[in-house]
Amino acid sequence: VAPLRHVVPSAQDFDTSYSIEARKYLMTYGLTPPAVETFENQAKRCMAILNRKELPLEKYRYLSALRNTNMHLFYRLLADNVKELTPLIYTPTVGEACQRWSELYTFPEGLYLSYADRGHLHTILQNWPHEVQITVVTDGSRILGLGDLGIDGMGIPVGKLSLYTACAGIHPLMTLPLCLDLGTSNVEKRNDPLYLGSRRDKVTAEEEKEFLDELMAALTERWPGIVIQYEDFKNPFPSLERYQETYTMFNDDIQGTGAVILGGFINAVKQSGTAPQNQRAVFLGAGSAGVGVAKQLTEFFMKEGLSEDEARKRFWLVDSKGLVTMDRPGELAEHKVYFARDDNNGEQYKTLEDVVEYVKPTILMGLSTIGGAFTPKILERLAELNERPVIFPLSNPSSKSECTFEDAIKYTKGMCLFASGSPFPTLQWQGKDLVPGQGNNMYVFPGIGLGAILSKSVSVTQNMIYASAEALSTSLTPEEVESNWLYPNISRIRDVSVIVTRGVIRAAQGDGVDRELALRNVSDEEMDQFIRHRMYDPFKEQDHVSQEVRELAQHVLG
Ligand code: NAP
Ligand code: MN
Repeated sequence: VAPLRHVVPSAQDFDTSYSIEARKYLMTYGLTPPAVETFENQAKRCMAILNRKELPLEKYRYLSALRNTNMHLFYRLLADNVKELTPLIYTPTVGEACQRWSELYTFPEGLYLSYADRGHLHTILQNWPHEVQITVVTDGSRILGLGDLGIDGMGIPVGKLSLYTACAGIHPLMTLPLCLDLGTSNVEKRNDPLYLGSRRDKVTAEEEKEFLDELMAALTERWPGIVIQYEDFKNPFPSLERYQETYTMFNDDIQGTGAVILGGFINAVKQSGTAPQNQRAVFLGAGSAGVGVAKQLTEFFMKEGLSEDEARKRFWLVDSKGLVTMDRPGELAEHKVYFARDDNNGEQYKTLEDVVEYVKPTILMGLSTIGGAFTPKILERLAELNERPVIFPLSNPSSKSECTFEDAIKYTKGMCLFASGSPFPTLQWQGKDLVPGQGNNMYVFPGIGLGAILSKSVSVTQNMIYASAEALSTSLTPEEVESNWLYPNISRIRDVSVIVTRGVIRAAQGDGVDRELALRNVSDEEMDQFIRHRMYDPFKEQDHVSQEVRELAQHVLG
């Protein structure tokens, strides 16, 4: 009598690369097509299916289904095609997926916690079937630039955690996509019969705070050492301030974004050949992003030896009323005071052009949301003033970018050091391929997360965030530096993440927030080896599983 199957195979067990012995052992023999495939063959099929789909959203859905049925294959595919697949599993396609999440729902993909669950969060967390090292949490209240999408924002934690796995090798089964169902201010969603969240208005800030207090404690109690990354909250500052010293948490929208801009900026300043004390940075935009970024860059100038006051004086901020000065008529918003100039001798400069004439900047940063604000005339002027002007149009999306890569190159005769917030295509210029820098958070957040996990940090300090930027700036190959790149090639992201992770761990040690004390005494080489060794490798995973199974099968089946 044949033994009866007592375990239902998981979708993963149907991987067509599994050996015949493995299939016999798993009792999936006959339940999969006969051929035993190589990964190359599997990948060829997946890419062909993907290429036949026209709409990005359809490609997204195919890739989601693949992740849910053959996780290792999904990550093998992603590892070999980071550049091509990232826009399909994260921005921009994930935005479209979130807008229609309830409408197109197929898999849960993560954990949902509702406001009505308060008081029981710890119990509900017990339902999650795996150990967790890192979670990305959102309440869906500001998904990309798309507004409040309620629980339809789940696509963001899912996509971001796929990138943690792809870029830093955090094991996919140890990641928790977490979407909070705290109501939504989106009336259209609330009235949509297909919407899968609570049909109530957004909770108040006070209610949210109490809920998050319970959540942070419950997560950390359930999985001590868990790293908690906040994402796409409408007002991210209160929770960052409230939890950053007591929990291992950070906010990628604020801290990751700041770090990635800083990383490119460090390289731009170095490549410009102008010493920090002689740099003059004009910012178009003095909103929360402009002031936040300027403060990060001040920190770099200070590490380069300037006093805080000297560093602060390297910045001239421009808003809708012109140069931000102390003696400007009308009230000055509080966040603008720190960088407001007091050396303008009573003169007011109303337009960016006027400010450029007055300041003669070496650096032009755009955080204004005004597409095309860096006009040809302004770009030409920057090129007259500097051998290598630094031009960073950072407003998103591309339509709001202060200039295009093409214009920046054309009007500075190919001389500018460029990075943007949104992607621009590679450009042909005088027989050379010019590659635009893009300050993509993917360069830093995976390493911040992995660094915090491996060092078992009790918190994520500002020095750890700063270190991620500094490490990123050192991750370029000599060829990349030679070509005036400000960021490394994204296809080397795993190597970059090792360097960023090491920087983050060293900073955690410097601040004494690490609990993996054995790592304090290892050399950088040993540290890199340790990091690599701890990274999930979907290719090895495959071999490892089938090797184990093969041996067992030999033993059991003879
Ligand atoms: P915000 O709070 O609306 O700030 C916009 C700023 O630009 C304000 O200071 C505003 O002046 C100024 N401004 C608006 N119109 C102007 C004009 N015609 N001339 C001169 N200044 C003008 O927005 P935010 O949150 O700071 O974000 C700004 C941009 O940064 C967004 O496009 C966002 O995508 C981008 N961003 C990019 C990244 C990245 O990684 N690349 C990160 C964060 C943010 P007033 O103060 O006088 O109103
Ligand atoms: Mn975000």
